[in-house]
Amino acid sequence: MPVATSRAPITWRQGFTSLGAAFGSPQPAASLPDPCWIAHDRDVAALLGLDERWMNSDQALQALSGNAPLPESIPFASVYGGHQFGVWAGRLGDGRAVLLGETTQGQEIQLKGSGRTPYSRGADGRAVLRSSIREFLACTAMHGLGIPTTRALALIGSPLPVQREEPETAAVLTRVAPSFIRFGHFEWFASQGQTTELRQLADYVIERYYPECREADSANDNAYAGLLRAVSERTAHLIAQWQAAGFMHGVMNTDNMSILGLTLDYGPFQFMDGYDPRHICNHSDPLGRYAYDEQPAVAHWNLACLARALLPLIGETAQAQAAIAVYPQTFNRAYLEQMRRKLGLQDAWEGDEASIAALLALLASGHVDYPVFWRRLSRAIASDHMAPVRDLFVDRSAFDAWLLSLQKQLAQYGKAQNPDLMLKTNPRFVLRTHLAEHAIRDAKLQNFETLQTLHEVLTHPYDEHPGQDAWAGLPPDWADTLTLSCSS
Ligand code: AMP
Ligand code: MG
Repeated sequence: MPVATSRAPITWRQGFTSLGAAFGSPQPAASLPDPCWIAHDRDVAALLGLDERWMNSDQALQALSGNAPLPESIPFASVYGGHQFGVWAGRLGDGRAVLLGETTQGQEIQLKGSGRTPYSRGADGRAVLRSSIREFLACTAMHGLGIPTTRALALIGSPLPVQREEPETAAVLTRVAPSFIRFGHFEWFASQGQTTELRQLADYVIERYYPECREADSANDNAYAGLLRAVSERTAHLIAQWQAAGFMHGVMNTDNMSILGLTLDYGPFQFMDGYDPRHICNHSDPLGRYAYDEQPAVAHWNLACLARALLPLIGETAQAQAAIAVYPQTFNRAYLEQMRRKLGLQDAWEGDEASIAALLALLASGHVDYPVFWRRLSRAIASDHMAPVRDLFVDRSAFDAWLLSLQKQLAQYGKAQNPDLMLKTNPRFVLRTHLAEHAIRDAKLQNFETLQTLHEVLTHPYDEHPGQDAWAGLPPDWADTLTLSCSS
């Protein structure tokens, strides 16, 4: 039952919009007819100091649907550019999102799907319920896995029709992150020769999020090269986590790359089902630019775009090159570490890389289900009962040989797999496409229970959650027929 409240729930501090008119345009959210609550995330609410009473209030519903501005908030759409599928796309910007402001906790709040802005480029400024549910759950799932991501506070639906391939309805997602600044923000000002704004933006990002780069200003380094190196390192860690988790973003354009190394802008993302390193999750990417095994190299390419954009500030090409050169080694180290943990091992051993590569080749050749394999392996190491794992392979003897070889190596180095570590590293619940599809189908019938249940299990994906086996198993046959595209 909604309760009325008039107290200002959110207190703001100066943030991105204080950079000035060159960075975007004040843009009120469009109103959303007949808004209704679909879901909200209590943990994100708590992060913003919002209590349950407010989250259930009509003020919250109206404010987060875009119908009534929050006190002291001046919504703002920012301008950015970007490389889309390898090609410079020119001016993009928040075409369907507005920044409400930055809270005193240092979190930006953004409404996505809140209507047209000066950057809508002829599109409707809306987001559909289907993609908004996927993004809401994806933020939950990634955070639950410990992967840096923007967060989702609330999801509000509406009967407002929105035309995509077929008629759908609108939703507004409230997103939360310390910053939504993208590589594309820098690229935009660089492309326009606006070096003053470029510097202003870089200084803002350094001061707020990378203050250590200012200290590195001395010696033969400079703060902007330091920023580029720090972003390269964060990005490397992020992509290593994606690869280990089997996460595919689907649209790794530079306008979707967070300067903070967060997973940002969930569109046709997917978590790996049967392991296929060449898997392309985005139907709008027939050439596989953003295939699973391309992601690490694409992130490096995107960092090169950022490097080019920062060059007027860095000065020396060699310094920019040196800054992004940390990416491959940081990625390789972080990825290996992630994969060792999946095997229940914290330390390196000679042969770890080869052993992991051999396992992945086995998974690929049998198209073995990625999450189920890892979870079953974790259980099997805990119980010493390997049959459920072996059963996943057509060539069981090849798996036996791999395991025997691993165990021999570990014995030689006096190491053993730690099943507790494995169970905390290999989730039981993964947001596979068909799970989101269940939530979407039910939500279209005004039933939000599946969404709620998935939200709960994905918040704590390593826990057992007895009774929720239905969400933890192999995908059904119809999952193969689901296609994902940029349409959202
Ligand atoms: P995305 O592919 O969602 O990352 O979006 C790429 C660009 O297109 C961004 O500038 C978005 O703001 C813009 N965009 C995507 N969908 C819409 C829409 N329905 N209305 C207006 N702008 C959109
Ligand atoms: Mg985007």
